[in-house]
Amino acid sequence: MTGQNPMAVFVAARLDEDEWVARESRRTGPAPGDHELYVLDDDHRHNQIVISGPRALAEVEAKRRTLARHPGATASSECPGCAAHLDGTWVTPAGATCPQLADLAAPYADHPGYATLTTGQTGDPR
Ligand SMILES: [Zn+2]
Repeated sequence: MTGQNPMAVFVAARLDEDEWVARESRRTGPAPGDHELYVLDDDHRHNQIVISGPRALAEVEAKRRTLARHPGATASSECPGCAAHLDGTWVTPAGATCPQLADLAAPYADHPGYATLTTGQTGDPR
């Protein structure tokens, strides 16, 4: 993990998990009447949204492309995807959190590894 931003490592691990789930869903294929996105109503609470396997894979790939452009800052380097303002200051200087990377990580805030990213705890964020 040397040289990599811990939040980027965390996001990459979550995307690998999402890809695995999406590929598992493709093994069984869609049921008649399945849509790309719908609310699951098996308990009458409408508390789950379901997306199709192909759409989930497309979202994983889109997030991976964003992650590739914004691998985040490290202790000594700025995020290469954030570039600089017109005055030459980096949007995400060394040691700061890249806002694009933070947005990619936010949906996984309930994952135990997320706390190591936001509280400064040591440990493997994967
Ligand atoms: Zn960035």
